[in-house]
Amino acid sequence: MMRRLECNCCGGDAGRFRQWWNRDTGFGQCGRCTDWSLERGESLAHVRDMAGDPGVHRPQGELEAALVAKYGAEGAAALAGDAMRQAALAIKGE
Ligand SMILES: [Zn+2]
Repeated sequence: MMRRLECNCCGGDAGRFRQWWNRDTGFGQCGRCTDWSLERGESLAHVRDMAGDPGVHRPQGELEAALVAKYGAEGAAALAGDAMRQAALAIKGE
């Protein structure tokens, strides 16, 4: 079931998606907050654990989309910590 979700990080609109099991009912995660967590070095695997799949349970962040476009799905999934922070900085500087 698709439903209107509220971001449980910033309280903003998190779009109309399926509920993810690891979020309270009615809550999801907006793209800005996903990008913010990536900039802090969190991995896409962590984002998925917490907030689900882009386009299914939450909107895809702009930075997230750019990372996947630049590194491919597997390459982007391998980024975490310093490597993720550096990749995010590089994209923001482009
Ligand atoms: Zn948010």
